[in-house]
Amino acid sequence: MPAPLTTPAIVLRSWSFGESDKIVSFLTESHGKLRGIAKGAKRSRKRFANSLEPFSLVNLRFLDRTAGLVFIQGCELVQVFKRLTATLDKIAHASYFTELADVLSNERDENPALFAHVRNGLAFLDANETSEVAIAYFELKLLSLSGYQPGLDHCRRCRAGWRGNAGRWNFSLRDGGVLCPGCSAFRREVAPLSPSALEFMEELERANGEFPVHLSSFPADARREGHLALLRFIQYQIGKELKSAPFLDAFST
Ligand SMILES: [Zn+2]
Repeated sequence: MPAPLTTPAIVLRSWSFGESDKIVSFLTESHGKLRGIAKGAKRSRKRFANSLEPFSLVNLRFLDRTAGLVFIQGCELVQVFKRLTATLDKIAHASYFTELADVLSNERDENPALFAHVRNGLAFLDANETSEVAIAYFELKLLSLSGYQPGLDHCRRCRAGWRGNAGRWNFSLRDGGVLCPGCSAFRREVAPLSPSALEFMEELERANGEFPVHLSSFPADARREGHLALLRFIQYQIGKELKSAPFLDAFST
């Protein structure tokens, strides 16, 4: 019989399983993404209290017996981000952040920096107004922590820098970064980036550790272009559309 393991974790999703159980997807600090079964979670409210609700920060105790589902022995609430479920706007954003964490993390792959970024992202959303700056920063840093860092400072093909290089630059999904006007001519899989959007993304990349709220001074178009390029890049990398992305549009600021 293996010994139980414990780790800080964030509840990404949970759903009913059979009459009385729940399946829960977690992002953990020391075991990457895990899916587990919580026996009797629907029947006994006492055992798991509210600790299996999405966006909760918990201490997870589990048994890892097979390569599939882990057996959830206990789940203790560490922090509830209460405001994340208070309005539709916050729910839409928190659902987007957790879906991104779900698709860009790997099962049983320890990545404490990625875990810390997702935890900080939910804490930031809980305490602040939602914004495209927060979304784009969350996306870009998560891409970099999961090994998909896009190249933003010069053309991925000819190495030309974008500063002082007039014309329409684009973000290429296939090349994983920006392309100069010449190298992106006739390309269809690209997202346009104005000079202001290029600068916005460079500033996002520079911000390290703190959500760069000062970047809200960038024009709305630049922030939106940056977010859309990153969203399309993420969807290209995972090969599917994110379910929660369309709901963000209703609340974009
Ligand atoms: Zn080029």
